Amino acid sequence: MTKAEIITIGDELLYGHTIDTNAAYISEKITEAGARVIWRTTVGDDLETMTEAIARAMQRADIVIASGGLGPTHDDITKKGICRYFKRPLILYDSVLKKLEERFEKRGIRMPAVNQNQALLPQGAEFIENQLGSALGIAIEDDGRLFIAVPGVPSEMRGMVDGWITETIRKRAGSNITIHRKLRTVGIIESALYEKIAELIDPKALPRESKITVAFLPSWKGVDIRLTAITDDEEHGRRNIGELESKITERIGKYIFGYDRDDMAGTIGDILKERHLTLAAAESCTGGLVSKMITDIPGSSSYFLGGVIAYSNDLKMNLLSVPQIILEKYGAVSAECVSYMAEGAAQKLGANIGLAITGIAGPSGGTEEKPVGTVFIGLAIPGKTETKEYHFGGDRESNRERAATAAMDMLRRYLKEFK
Ligand code: AMP
Ligand code: MG
Repeated sequence: MTKAEIITIGDELLYGHTIDTNAAYISEKITEAGARVIWRTTVGDDLETMTEAIARAMQRADIVIASGGLGPTHDDITKKGICRYFKRPLILYDSVLKKLEERFEKRGIRMPAVNQNQALLPQGAEFIENQLGSALGIAIEDDGRLFIAVPGVPSEMRGMVDGWITETIRKRAGSNITIHRKLRTVGIIESALYEKIAELIDPKALPRESKITVAFLPSWKGVDIRLTAITDDEEHGRRNIGELESKITERIGKYIFGYDRDDMAGTIGDILKERHLTLAAAESCTGGLVSKMITDIPGSSSYFLGGVIAYSNDLKMNLLSVPQIILEKYGAVSAECVSYMAEGAAQKLGANIGLAITGIAGPSGGTEEKPVGTVFIGLAIPGKTETKEYHFGGDRESNRERAATAAMDMLRRYLKEFK
């Protein structure tokens, strides 16, 4: 297996001003290409630490990819670090300089003198074309190991990773591949999910040669179960993953809303479209979050008619026909109110299904009887209305996300169960 290491370079990454999306992108792409990322490091625009990072990475990995610091200005010093570690001089490449000048000429702008620096490159290196910018990528073979440096600008980095780098890794990595399968669940907490499938994923229960690893990835939108196989026999690997997936699905199928890149709004949309059903929403504490999730899906206009954000009691009464007596007797955060909201949404907006949410997102507004995180969800379907009560008890953001997710899940389950 080709071991790879990634070094991201830039003071802005260490300050926390820029999120290191390059490392994630490079990891994903080179793993797909057959490398195994074993280590990632971030250093600033500093010669000492950068050289140390390169030195350590070159000891551990077969391929090292560094991103950042290849620009022409004084703070871009990655080339110096490379030259220091590999003990090579920076030399002026006339052919590169000529191309740079042509590039600027074509754009009709004068080339600033500082850009000449970009024709100064380590002696004996191979260069990777940059379609989107003026900094070339740099590749150096050293003692059977390969060092690569790419620019930090994400689009320029992606161009090189998608082309030259993945091709090179594919050639080197041979037949080893990493296969991922993600089972996306909702409506159950991570530990409960684990309990249900623990014996299936016990390493002792798995075929030894299959080398499948299982990970639980929780978020407010649900828990993903990721199955991973690293194998030199793709068919065999896929079969092993498929078998484990079936066993897991047998036990927890009702919580699975999709696979890999599926999302819940898409799953719901597909069913609504297929059955020619329309949906309308009435949202209080989620402030339109459910409507956003649904309309994030292209083509949602064929089943989603719209939504009402009824934050105030007046709007709940005037737009959704929630009776005043219900609000007075049970309050806006109640099963009774949400059930009227759901019916009101369906009727007033003329949809087959009405989905409603009311709750206390916090941090204020909670009472002993209805603490922060109390959420009611209503689902009005032809002939009946169902409600559910939740107590999330998190902060404002998570309460809203969890409420929206729970509402979507309630709808999803209804659509799945009543065909
Ligand atoms: P550089 O190639 O170091 O001059 O970086 C140019 C720009 O690319 C920076 O201003 C950042 O906005 C962006 N950038 C650099 N490194 C990263 C990274 N690891 N992840 C995301 N963006 C980055
Ligand atoms: Mg930089």
